[in-house]
Amino acid sequence: MTATAAASAVVPEPAAAVAPEPDGAPDGLWPTTARRTADGSLAVGGVDLRDLAREHGTPAYVVDEADLRGRARTFADAFAAAFAPDRGLAGAEVYYAGKAFLTVAVAGWVHEEGLRLDVATGGELAVAVRAGVPGPALALHGNNKSDAELRAALTHRVGRVVVDSLPEIGRVADLAAAAGVRAPVMVRVTTGVHAGGHEFIATAHEDQKFGLSLAAGAAAEAVAAVLARPELELVGLHSHIGSQILDLAGFEVAARAVLGLRAQVAEQTGYLMPEVDLGGGYGIRYTGAESAPPTPARVATALADVVRRACADLGTPPPRVSVEPGRAVAGPAGLTLYTVGTVKDVRLDDGGARRYVSVDGGMSDNIRPALYGAEYTAALAGRASAADPVTARVVGKHCESGDVVVRHVALPADVADGDLLAVPATGAYGRSMASNYNAMPRPPVLAVRDGRVRVLVRRETVEDLLALDLG
Ligand SMILES: *Cc1c(COP(=O)(O)O)cnc(C)c1O
Repeated sequence: MTATAAASAVVPEPAAAVAPEPDGAPDGLWPTTARRTADGSLAVGGVDLRDLAREHGTPAYVVDEADLRGRARTFADAFAAAFAPDRGLAGAEVYYAGKAFLTVAVAGWVHEEGLRLDVATGGELAVAVRAGVPGPALALHGNNKSDAELRAALTHRVGRVVVDSLPEIGRVADLAAAAGVRAPVMVRVTTGVHAGGHEFIATAHEDQKFGLSLAAGAAAEAVAAVLARPELELVGLHSHIGSQILDLAGFEVAARAVLGLRAQVAEQTGYLMPEVDLGGGYGIRYTGAESAPPTPARVATALADVVRRACADLGTPPPRVSVEPGRAVAGPAGLTLYTVGTVKDVRLDDGGARRYVSVDGGMSDNIRPALYGAEYTAALAGRASAADPVTARVVGKHCESGDVVVRHVALPADVADGDLLAVPATGAYGRSMASNYNAMPRPPVLAVRDGRVRVLVRRETVEDLLALDLG
């Protein structure tokens, strides 16, 4: 291909957007307490991020405690109100999906604000237990739980084990018998609904590792297997349809499917399961360009309407409902603070230019752009700038060209070595998915509130990494 032909094939990228400024809105991009100081620096929780960086270094995960607690409380209140018995429903429970972001302090916060907690491994369970969250307020998930994890769940009297396969049902029952307890279980059902972003798809086939297929009859078989074991108490059915869901329509299809199975089991066996879990996945803003995410109140009323109508159609009393938001609780409350290093201009095939802005972290502290093509935005955190915006790409310091933090953003043309850069909406699936790629120590988790910084997780050191390496 000639150079001209290659160039003519290039579609110019849309203009890069400047990150919206903090506005205190709960459905905004930044933590709700984020503000610009009089001289243009970014402050969160009353802490100027320049001071935070000076004292604790970068990269750092910064979490707005008041914001995260407020989101947890808002979910608890919204679901309690929408599913109240005086609205013809049987109540609701909100479980925080701990895999989004879990530290001992965070587990304690969400518990104090009225949420229960989902864990997916023995490690997450240990964090919740260390935080003092009572076992009955916990749910254990996972498609491949070990005997040790199941035993730990039974020892701590976890409120529900969400079983994910037929063999697991027998294992949980045997372990419960050995422990002399009755294990509360939910059956994870796959409804064929898969959602994420703006749309959902509904298919009859299930080609994924989670859950038991409703269409193929595996879910009904699992329910029968649970009912056949006296060591197990069948709490209900569970459905999780995806993540970063902005359009709630997929939940209606999935909810009708699980409520239908619940009614069918009641008809055949006389046992009406008391509960249905509709999973999590409520979307948030990552760049400010996406459509407004549904508020907890809107999610709660929409799901309440669906459950009320579906149960009326089926002629069954409504179940207690639970949901499992992760990112919608933790995501917007967190940001990552970096320091800019190398700045490099690259000429593009369409004649334009891109400024590559390298920061002191990257795919080890946020794998989502590389893993899912996730989009973020970024803004100067240490100062204001009146310089014209330039098209930029924020990249990390790892040995991969896919080590991108923000693919496409407009930054002030005077962005330079030493500038602080903040990437919002990294509170979920940032720290929890972090790695030590390139022997990079993981950043600290710093909670800010009322003008004070509290180190929730300290910065890892190279010595920490070497301590694991026995030579
Ligand atoms: C990941 C997950 C969630 C939370 O998803 P978010 O997108 O963070 O809300 C809830 N339930 C289950 C079973 C999950 O796997």
